[in-house]
Amino acid sequence: MAETAPPQAETLRLFFALWPDDATRDALDRAGKWLHRRWGGRRMRADTLHITLAFLGATPVDRLDAVIACADAVAVEPYELLLDLAGYWRHNRIGWLGVSEMPPQHVELVEALNARLRAAGFPVDDRPHVPHVTLLRKTGGGEVPACRAVTWPVKDFALVKSVTESAGARYEVMRRWNLRGSRTGVDGGEG
Ligand code: ATP
Ligand code: MG
Repeated sequence: MAETAPPQAETLRLFFALWPDDATRDALDRAGKWLHRRWGGRRMRADTLHITLAFLGATPVDRLDAVIACADAVAVEPYELLLDLAGYWRHNRIGWLGVSEMPPQHVELVEALNARLRAAGFPVDDRPHVPHVTLLRKTGGGEVPACRAVTWPVKDFALVKSVTESAGARYEVMRRWNLRGSRTGVDGGEG
């Protein structure tokens, strides 16, 4: 006798990320080509390049408002991220670009987002955050070259939907939030 499965809530695979502006994306893509010449593997498509800030995974659609409210509450000043470090993780064969110095605003942003999501009941990762842009998959890695740095002016962050397709994950930016200080009465009056 067939059992009736309980109705499955519709879910979206979500994460928060820094999503590059066009100039930063081009610079990251060039860094990817440069690293690929040294280490091989499969280059990530330019339109997938990002830095994950908080990973939510499968999230019921009816929790989307709660996710958005968490991001609405984040108040962090804009900053610059200097990506000046190439790295390789053996366990997942990923080649990436990361930072040797962590701006305090980046730490604030990651911590504020994850703390609010956790408080709202979302099962976010509590492993330490290592900011990185995945540039290569299935790479053999190699000697870590001194690399030309990419400066990323971070002005906003995004909620992204990950759609699994046969060709790999496709990402869709659902919404963006501008960075701003905690000061109220914005506008600033300085034109
Ligand atoms: P695929 O898993 O299909 O190979 P992907 O890893 O690019 O593709 P997702 O798994 O949807 O796509 O991940 C989206 C982003 O979240 C990526 O930056 C990924 O590194 C990151 N991510 C995935 N799982 C976790 C996790 N458990 N903790 C933290 N970050 C994660
Ligand atoms: Mg994955």
